[in-house]
Amino acid sequence: MSNYVKDLMADVKAKNPAQPEFHQAVEEVVESLSIVLDKHPEYRAAKILERIIEPERVIMFRVPWVDEQGETHINRGYRIEMNSAIGPYKGGLRFHPSVNLGILKFLAFEQVFKKSLTTLPMGGGKGGSDFDPKGKSDLKIMRFCQAFMSELFRHIGPNTDIPAGDIGVGGREIGYLFGMYKKLRNEFTGVLTGKGLNWGGSLIRPEATGYGAVYFGAEMLATKNDSYEGKTCLVSGSGNVAQYTIEKINQLGGKAVTLSDSSGYIYDEEGVDTEKLAYVINLKNVKRGRIEEYADKYRSAVYTPLDSKADYNPLWNHKAQCAFPCATQNEINEKDAINLLKNGVFLVSEGANMPTTLDGVKLFLDKKILYGPAKAANAGGVAVSGLEMAQNSMRVPWSKEEVDGRLQQIMKNIHTTCKETAERFGTPGNYVNGANIGGFLKVADSMMDQGVV
Ligand code: NAP
Repeated sequence: MSNYVKDLMADVKAKNPAQPEFHQAVEEVVESLSIVLDKHPEYRAAKILERIIEPERVIMFRVPWVDEQGETHINRGYRIEMNSAIGPYKGGLRFHPSVNLGILKFLAFEQVFKKSLTTLPMGGGKGGSDFDPKGKSDLKIMRFCQAFMSELFRHIGPNTDIPAGDIGVGGREIGYLFGMYKKLRNEFTGVLTGKGLNWGGSLIRPEATGYGAVYFGAEMLATKNDSYEGKTCLVSGSGNVAQYTIEKINQLGGKAVTLSDSSGYIYDEEGVDTEKLAYVINLKNVKRGRIEEYADKYRSAVYTPLDSKADYNPLWNHKAQCAFPCATQNEINEKDAINLLKNGVFLVSEGANMPTTLDGVKLFLDKKILYGPAKAANAGGVAVSGLEMAQNSMRVPWSKEEVDGRLQQIMKNIHTTCKETAERFGTPGNYVNGANIGGFLKVADSMMDQGVV
C-alpha cells in the first residue's frame, strides 16, 4: 500500500467511524486507482478522489407508521446522494434490518463507478431503511412505503434522483412508493425504475441484473474460447437476482445446483431446471416462503440450515466450475474463496454488491481466475433502469428483444472496457482494476470540467 493510499484510508476511517463496509469498498477502489493517480497528477491536485469519497448529500429521516392493529412503529430512512457528475443520482432502495448509514454509503459509492461503466448518463445514489418486510402483511408494507415516501418525495425527481429496488424492495414495494409519490406531487413521471409494465416499467428490468451477470461471465469465458455448456454453477440467494441468473444459466447450457436465503441453502445435484425455477419464483415472490420448502418438494435436494457460528459458508464447498454470489455483501470470505478454488471454480461473476471480502478478492486475483467484480458484472440492472428512463422520457415502450439486445451489448461493452483498461494500466486479466479505473476516468474528467462544486 502506497503512503498516499495509507493516508487517505486513515482519513476515511477517522471521518467515517464504525462504517466497515464503506471502508472496504473505498479501500478496494483506492488501491486500483493509485496507478492512475501516479500517471495523472492533475486528479490528485484537484482532490478528485477525496471528493468522490464524500457524498454530495446525505439525507436521514424518521419514518413513523401505524400498523393494522393500531401499533405505532418508528423506522429510520436514508437517501445517499453520492455523485451527480455524469447524471442524476440513481440507485436502489434497500429495506432490511441490517441497513445502516455505512452499508448504504458503500452501496452508493459503488454505484458511481457502476453507472459510469454502463455509458448511460446516471450518477450514483442509494437509500433504504432498517424496516424488515419479511413476513409482513401487504397492508403493513403499503403503510410503511407510504410513510417512507411522505418524506423522500421532497428530495427526489425524474431529473434529480431516481431510486429503484434492491434487497427487500421489489415490484410490490415500488408500486406503493410510486403511488404515494404521484399523489403527493400530482404528476406522473419516471421518478422510480422497476415500475410495473402497465404504468411505465420496462420489459426485461426484473431479469436484467441476473441476465447481465451471466452475460458478463459469458464474455469472460469467451476470452478462453469457452462457454457455459455443461458447466455446474453455484448460485446464492433466491431473490430477484438469483432467480434470473439461474434462468439465463439454464438457457445457455449450464446447470445451477444451489439456492439460499438468510435461513440456509439447498443443494440440488440434478440442477434447478425450468420447472423447479418456476416453483422458486412462486415460492419467493408470491407465497413469500423459505427456501427450505424446496427440499420438501424436490427429493433430489438437500437443505442445510445456516450455522451462524461457522466461519465459512458450505454453499461454496461443492464441486463446480462457476459461482454467482447473488445474496448480499461479504458472503464469500477467504475460507469460502479457498473452498471455491479447491472445488474447481474458475469463474466468479458477482450478482450481489461486494459479495467477496478483500482477502477473497486478493485470492481470486492471485490465482488469475475469471473474476468479474460486482461493479461490472451486476451493472445490467442499472443499465436497464437507464433504458426504462429513456423509454419514459420518449413515452414509447420498447420490445423485449430490443431491451435484451441493448442489455447484451452494454454488458459486452462493459467487459471490453474492463479488459482493455486493465491491459492499458499494466494489469491484464485484472477486471477489478479494469472496472475501478474504467468507471473512475469518466467521472473524474466530468468533475474536472465542472469545477469545484
Ligand atoms: P432480494 O430479491 O431481496 O433477494 C435477496 C436474497 O438474498 C434473498 O434470498 C435473501 O434471503 C438473501 N439475503 C439477503 N440478506 C441476506 C443476509 N444478510 N444473509 C443471507 N442471505 C441474505 O434482493 P435482490 O434484488 O436479489 O438483491 C440481491 C443482491 O444483488 C444485493 O446485494 C443487491 O444489492 C444486489 N443487486 C441487486 C440489483 C437489482 O436489480 N435488484 C442490482 C444490482 C445488484 P431472505 O429472503 O432470507 O432475506
